[in-house]
Amino acid sequence: MKTPVFSAALALACLAAGCSTPQPRLVPPPPVNPSTAIVGATLWDGTGSAPVAHAVTVVRGDRILCAGAAGECQVPHGARVIEAQGKYLIPGLIDSHVHLLFMQNGSASEELGLDLRDLLAQGVTTVRDMGNSPTDLLSRVAGFAAAPRVYAMQLVAGPRFFYPAMRPVRTEHGVELHQAPALTMQWLGWTPIQFNRDDDPDAVVAAARQAGAMGLKLYAQLDSGSVRRLTLAAHRAGLTVWGHAWVQPASVGEQTAAGMDGVVHAAGLAGELFTAEERDTLVRDGDLQVATAHAATAAAAHDPRLLATLDSMAAHGTMFEPTLDATRHSLAAYDARVRHVTTQQEGYVRAAAEFGVEVTREAVKHGVRISAGSDHVAYGPVGDRASVFGELRLYVDSLGFSPTGALLAATRDAARAIGGEPGRQVGTIEAGRYADLVLLGKNPLADIDNLDVVEWVMRGGRIWRPEQLRSGIAMR
Ligand SMILES: [Zn+2]
Repeated sequence: MKTPVFSAALALACLAAGCSTPQPRLVPPPPVNPSTAIVGATLWDGTGSAPVAHAVTVVRGDRILCAGAAGECQVPHGARVIEAQGKYLIPGLIDSHVHLLFMQNGSASEELGLDLRDLLAQGVTTVRDMGNSPTDLLSRVAGFAAAPRVYAMQLVAGPRFFYPAMRPVRTEHGVELHQAPALTMQWLGWTPIQFNRDDDPDAVVAAARQAGAMGLKLYAQLDSGSVRRLTLAAHRAGLTVWGHAWVQPASVGEQTAAGMDGVVHAAGLAGELFTAEERDTLVRDGDLQVATAHAATAAAAHDPRLLATLDSMAAHGTMFEPTLDATRHSLAAYDARVRHVTTQQEGYVRAAAEFGVEVTREAVKHGVRISAGSDHVAYGPVGDRASVFGELRLYVDSLGFSPTGALLAATRDAARAIGGEPGRQVGTIEAGRYADLVLLGKNPLADIDNLDVVEWVMRGGRIWRPEQLRSGIAMR
């Protein structure tokens, strides 16, 4: 017969306390230590510091407790230890430019979950959606545990985007409709907010926050005065402001002077080659494409007006997302077509591809900070989707980045692009940040292609394996 564990101690305690009737009490189980230690890997923490060999990284709950050399970071007693000798530990990657929500012919339901799993399997633990309905998107992704963290930007555009000169659109039934660009966007389920020059910018910011957005994406048909008022209002509320460069008529130079946090799309720098009056006449989407196709030559990427804007961006700390991989995918699709008549869109894509690489080279040379947003969309064949991995490969292959420089654009600098409080929680392996980590079997600093050798991905302390995410086992 076993002796009850409480009896002897309790009897003594009662003796001391002078009580007469011993009361049984439960013995608490030994404490469960929720810490996990990853031991022995080469640690590249994304801060810009050199890699640390044989490192220790400790995670408790969803946060990083410490990371560094074995002497700097102790393995807590009772921690779960993951042996990772010969492996490489890097921060979870950030894709600072994606589009996840397509209510028409796209990723509104199951496909969205599959895409989120595939992103996670690639080592992407945080994404920023640059065009969507924040309320819809955030409520839908909340249902998936196997997913990166998702932050949403609120689209804002001027009145001409909602009520422009009419343009023809051919439907699959051959019927021509006339509709505003905003309506095309709304058909996707996206919810741009209209801003008129005299509107209250604080009301736009309040609506964006109410919808769950952490920043504004200024999209089109906004003048420089509107850009400035919206930027000031957003910054007062702690929101970031990015521009779909250019937001005709406001140029990238004007957006930069207004204090905006960043601009996207290298081809948009072509706007600097036009006067404000010329930009103001490019009201229709087609006009913009024709003008860009004509102006955006490789030589024009070195135009003094454009270089002055890049200097200004560097001085203001305005960030730049060239989104080169998306253009590369579009170009590849045109190249694959053997016989066809060149369309306006193809002319635009071909000009944008060449010009975009040249402009991005200049941006780097002029000290503009790059964030590796890819313009990934969550539908269509997986191989056709732009990815942060594809973007980083282009930085190494076409721009002459070192693998380390490229990785910074998808970790530390992409976190800076996200900005605000969310940006301070991700992007580097530092105490207090989210435990978002990727363990690689090969060294990504030696060859960026080794980003493909993902052993596992940790998001908020939980480990996922690529084969698990892609096999259908991770249903939620
Ligand atoms: Zn985009």
